[in-house]
Amino acid sequence: MSLGCDLSVLEELTSNVKQIQDDVLAKILKANASTEYLHRFLEGSSDKELYKKKVPVVSYEDVKPYIDRVANGEPSDIISGEPITTFNRSSGTSSGNQKIYPANNIYFENLLFGYELCSVVMSKHFDGYKQGKVMIFRFIHRTTTTPCGLPIAPALTSFTKSKYYSSMAKSSTSPYEITLCPDPKQSMYCQLLCGLVQRDEVVSVGATFPSVLLQIIHFLENYWKELSSNIRSGHVSDWITDLSCRDSLSTILGEPNEELADLIEQECSGQKSWQGIITRLWPKTKCIETIVTGTMAQYIPVLEFYSNKVPLVSKVYASSEAFFGINMNPLSKPQHVSFTFLPNMSYFEFIEVDDDGGTTGEIVDLVNVKLGSYYEPLLTNFSGLNRCRVGDVLQVTGFYNNTPQFRFVRRKNTVLCVYEEPTTEEDILKALAHATVVLESSDLIMTGFTCYGDISIVPGHYVFIEDGPNPAKVNNGTNVLQLDNKVLVEYCCVMEESLSSLYRKLRVKDGPSGPLEVRIVQQGTFDSLMEFFVSQGASITQYKTPICINSGEALKVLEDKVLARFFSDRSPPL
Ligand code: AMP
Repeated sequence: MSLGCDLSVLEELTSNVKQIQDDVLAKILKANASTEYLHRFLEGSSDKELYKKKVPVVSYEDVKPYIDRVANGEPSDIISGEPITTFNRSSGTSSGNQKIYPANNIYFENLLFGYELCSVVMSKHFDGYKQGKVMIFRFIHRTTTTPCGLPIAPALTSFTKSKYYSSMAKSSTSPYEITLCPDPKQSMYCQLLCGLVQRDEVVSVGATFPSVLLQIIHFLENYWKELSSNIRSGHVSDWITDLSCRDSLSTILGEPNEELADLIEQECSGQKSWQGIITRLWPKTKCIETIVTGTMAQYIPVLEFYSNKVPLVSKVYASSEAFFGINMNPLSKPQHVSFTFLPNMSYFEFIEVDDDGGTTGEIVDLVNVKLGSYYEPLLTNFSGLNRCRVGDVLQVTGFYNNTPQFRFVRRKNTVLCVYEEPTTEEDILKALAHATVVLESSDLIMTGFTCYGDISIVPGHYVFIEDGPNPAKVNNGTNVLQLDNKVLVEYCCVMEESLSSLYRKLRVKDGPSGPLEVRIVQQGTFDSLMEFFVSQGASITQYKTPICINSGEALKVLEDKVLARFFSDRSPPL
């Protein structure tokens, strides 16, 4: 199924944004005004002004009882005029807890529409994009059911399994049957094999989020010999037991290919470093498609290392509850990426966020946001969410035609605090970006990161947990993990200097906040962290390394693998 999008559609949408948003709200209210939920406030009216006046702004927790009732078998019309056909399970790794969002086909149509528009934009900016293939790693995840038998799965799993995905599958190096393989290890191996065999056609490499892409590179480090041997012999390893995978590979793999096998071996073993491995193995790669905005910005240096700095493209801003916007300028640097909201997707309002991160109460429509201001989006969608807080903070950076564009700033609630300082996700990422320079000058690159506030001892202090610097290890050719105490202590100090003035005030000698600590864990520990979250029900495809860890169990996965600890040795200047 394809919706046949082209650039004129985008021009039309972004020019008539006010009218389109009005129509979307009218359509939603026509369908949903009589639901039990809206009837409480509107008494059956579908008047738009009344909707904005009477229907309260809510959080997920406020509507959860209604959602749970539908999940437990009561009729959909408690919240939605159209039947709810599925529930999207959010990854729960950025917000802390998993949620289920009601959805129906409109959600999937929107997703397809958004992705198709992105392809149009990508083709405009990258020559040959349309003619080539994308090696985008996608995985499906466990689907459970609600007590009344409706499916619950991560949104991208349901989308990938749906009829809406078929048109996207065509441009991918991975045959559909392989993407559908329920075993992630077999799926990953087969997707890599397909990508290697079709290396000359690959114009773009990616995964929804970078943590998955890095896991794939680690996987390649372990499996390149076997992959090249399969290519040399024309036979797939016996441990690939999924019959659909074997079937589709037999066509793709074709005859034994010694030349390609030699080339893979040479690239993977011949050099002392894996720098640029992506572009060496897939030489026509024009870009890496993966979201590096928000918390994922921490992966920029390591992705640049592996890809020889081809553009990193954050294509979309979307979530389990709705598709929000697309990046109209895929060549922009990660720190300048903005997402243009698509006004036909849902009805969007915005609540202004003040400097302290609180919301001011003033609510504006999509067309009335002010350039430079910070907002949390409120979502009204076709499947039962009404003026529901999304929990993200965005900043208006400009307009495309009449449609506002937003920079993703941070998740609203994820803050680090050991005393009374609210350190936001953005503060943490800024500090990290400054301190990374210290590592780079010593040939070290961080490959995974998270943090927490340790208040088990007094004074409490910030702990940053970081993955062993693997690429750097290979980079200096020694194959021995060398951690220079002086460099890492300096790294801690620069991080502290870059944190907020309130943090620095609390860090004065004998103050209530102790020296910032960096713990280096064994390489691969962050893959184990991802496996831990996946075992708890998170989806691989939607997995984002949590910037702050709140779960004791998750922390234990990291704590068991600590190789070394470093502390800042001076109070930061005020
Ligand atoms: P999920 O519902 O599990 O897919 O998570 C959705 C959340 O992921 C959003 O609310 C954002 O916090 C985050 N997210 C999605 N797209 C982006 C993006 N382009 N940049 C930064 N964060 C994003």
